[in-house]
Amino acid sequence: MTTSQEGIVPKIHTHTSAEGGIFANAYIIETQNGLVAVDATLTVSESKSLKNRIDSINKPLLAIFLTHPHPDHVAGVTNLLLGSSSSNNIPIVALDSVEKLMRITEEPKRTQWGPVYKDEWIGKWTFPNKLVKDRETITFDGVMYRVHDLGPGGDSDANSIWVVESEPKIAFTGDLVFEGTHSYIADNHLTEWLNNLEKVRELLVRDVSKIYPGHGKAGSLNMIDSQKKYLIAFSDAIKELANGKPTLTEDAKKELTSRIEKFLPNAQLTFLIAHSPTQWQQN
Ligand SMILES: [Zn+2]
Repeated sequence: MTTSQEGIVPKIHTHTSAEGGIFANAYIIETQNGLVAVDATLTVSESKSLKNRIDSINKPLLAIFLTHPHPDHVAGVTNLLLGSSSSNNIPIVALDSVEKLMRITEEPKRTQWGPVYKDEWIGKWTFPNKLVKDRETITFDGVMYRVHDLGPGGDSDANSIWVVESEPKIAFTGDLVFEGTHSYIADNHLTEWLNNLEKVRELLVRDVSKIYPGHGKAGSLNMIDSQKKYLIAFSDAIKELANGKPTLTEDAKKELTSRIEKFLPNAQLTFLIAHSPTQWQQN
């Protein structure tokens, strides 16, 4: 049995990846007797650096939570478990839908990105071994965590957020909210994404004051509104530029990039804009 965490506020360590790791955040939640990682970064070097940071805190890794199955959040799990004698026993906790999509996409993502990332691509992913359902709680080191299943509609087809249920409550929102970077909208669920932002705000507004996004700095719930405005601007621009057609021309994509850059000046990952839906569906 671990000591009760009553009154002890978990400390959050943020690992922000460099551009090669798509600026993805992974987090380490430090409690009295151990650590929980939230997401695991993309590349060999980012995940090893995250692992070094975990080791330097000198407390056991008790669990890894995954927010959604995109490689920049899940590929590094394999390296977080390296050299740990108890690695096979560490719970890798995720929704069923997140686990399924990881399994389905491991190979196509390797085919697509392996040649680009070369030695930095993590060829063998490690899948969740502890599946949780919507609103289920799980406790490590006396701290309770709750997962919320949001389904499709974030930058991925399977999205969850993790809430630390001890006071003050905080939430890890994965890629439902981006800060300081453009968003990846290629998975084409813009309407569901907007609905999910409403849902997340309702879930969190009463008692969560701080959210930790998958990309960018932690902040207040206002980040949810900023993300909404961004998506609406994006959606309006695509509708106008597509002009009733199902795809954007190359010129329209350039124009889209320039408009969205104006909407969010100084944001990173501009290349993501042109990865917006090539098969635009009118919702
Ligand atoms: Zn991401």
